[in-house]
Amino acid sequence: MTTLLRELCDAIGVSGDEDAVRDLILNAIRDHVTDIRIDAMGNVLAVRRGTGAADLRVMAAAHMDEVGLMVKGFDSDGTIRFAAVGGLDPRILPGTRVLVGPDRVPGVINWAPIHLNSSERTVGIERLRIDIGASSRDSAQDAASPGDRIAFDSHLVELGPTVRGKALDDRAGCAALIALVQGEPFPFDLHVAFTVQEEVGLRGARVAAQRIQPDIAFVLETTACHDLPQDPDEPDQTTITRLGAGPAITVMDRSMISDQRLVRHLVAVAEAENIPHQFRSPQHAGGTDAGTIHLSSGGVPSVVVANPCRYLHSPQSIMSLSDFENQIRLLRAAWMALTPATLER
Ligand SMILES: [Zn+2]
Repeated sequence: MTTLLRELCDAIGVSGDEDAVRDLILNAIRDHVTDIRIDAMGNVLAVRRGTGAADLRVMAAAHMDEVGLMVKGFDSDGTIRFAAVGGLDPRILPGTRVLVGPDRVPGVINWAPIHLNSSERTVGIERLRIDIGASSRDSAQDAASPGDRIAFDSHLVELGPTVRGKALDDRAGCAALIALVQGEPFPFDLHVAFTVQEEVGLRGARVAAQRIQPDIAFVLETTACHDLPQDPDEPDQTTITRLGAGPAITVMDRSMISDQRLVRHLVAVAEAENIPHQFRSPQHAGGTDAGTIHLSSGGVPSVVVANPCRYLHSPQSIMSLSDFENQIRLLRAAWMALTPATLER
């Protein structure tokens, strides 16, 4: 595992508050790019100069933000009410360790112990509170303010051939894009965008694409992986992706249908270069920055290459390091072979 992947995942950057992640990325790419710009939304935009062999304007995007929570208010017992930032399943929250606000105040999300917790009631986020050890509203208010971000308190660790931690979605994509930028130049100028606020509605990417106006876009993502034994009563036993089976090429999700020419190009390159790859099973769930990029500037042929992650949007997601390496290999090879002819109808 690279130090940079660890630093990126451990950095806290809940949507709209991506500064710590942005600083790491700027340091990592500065010596390899030109035209660095931080736009009005906070996206990092830069150009990796190419050899000029291919006359194409190519955009590659990865989002900097992560899902988390936000302080809503305080109860008289000193606990904190909160809202979700991005898609979170409230059922995974009770008992979770969190860090509150810019001072990273440690806390835990409350739950009734098993001795008292006999009801089958489902967990609603409005019933949950964060306990930071404060005993009054006043002392809780000294520690945090409404609007403060709350992040999962979790660090990246290596587990055999995998890593486990928070925010692999999409710091793994950021780390892969950084590795690609630091490598050999491509035949074209690569316009990179490290975007903000993906998890709350693909917002940074919309603005980034408007400025870049690319001919083609690639989005580096992570995606759900649910490859463990499933409920046999489920009518559809399709596995969305499998851990360790290679980066997943998205064909269709809720936000877009990938450009067929780019999907074919990726598959042809992967087969020629013997790079493991898989398809994310097509479904009307999930979305990525490609959802907004492909609808910008009169339309942009776009495709998503994503690393499967178990327990996505949790403090402990798990990703295969070989999938991560193969995502970089696949995109490098695909970009080296990309020409205007790739888009011929
Ligand atoms: Zn993501």
